Amino acid sequence: MKILLVEDEPQLAEVITRSLARERFTVETAATRAEALRKVSDHSYDLILLDIMLPGGSGLDVLRALKENGKQCNVIIISAKDSLDDKLAGLDLGADDYLTKPFHIAELNARVRSVLRRKQFGGSNTLTVANLELYPEERTVQVAGQPLALNRKEFDLLIYLLLNKDRLVTRSSVAEHVWGDHADEGDDLDFIYAQVKNLRRKLKQSDAAVEVQAVYGIGYRLTERIA
Ligand code: CA
Repeated sequence: MKILLVEDEPQLAEVITRSLARERFTVETAATRAEALRKVSDHSYDLILLDIMLPGGSGLDVLRALKENGKQCNVIIISAKDSLDDKLAGLDLGADDYLTKPFHIAELNARVRSVLRRKQFGGSNTLTVANLELYPEERTVQVAGQPLALNRKEFDLLIYLLLNKDRLVTRSSVAEHVWGDHADEGDDLDFIYAQVKNLRRKLKQSDAAVEVQAVYGIGYRLTERIA
């Protein structure tokens, strides 16, 4: 899952980025209001960690921009400014949670997991589709109760496809969610093809009752397989 960290303090940004990367999130950063606005308009994220006092203006403008563009995104405000006004304004603009600096990094990780779980897994620890059960925190998958071994990218790919079940996802949105910024470096998205191929083979071999359909030239769609 892909997180945008909006934070202008380089040291704090680095600590948070490293910690989230250890939790297997794809992390991108923005250090100014302008950079944050540009990134949220050009890309989509599963979660934004948002500082309020930024070079160039208020982080609340990022929330306003998301709202105006009708973009669905989880947001946790991380701010040193513990004013009630800011907090209320942030929550009013659609932020999911608010964490006051300084905070312990473990506390941030817990909030991130909790917000993502609440939003994407309906409060549950498991994502279940047909005979497939995925445990996001343990990063494990079972098919009919048997473990299915996936590499990191196959796992990320599977989560993304499961969350978008029955929907056609484009190759570029897969690239963006699973590979992050690095996917922008060229139009050659062949690396996705290889990972999808491996994932499909593993799902098939394990008798998973879901399948990943390729829609030629566009992208992929995960559906339940009719027996
Ligand atoms: Ca700041």
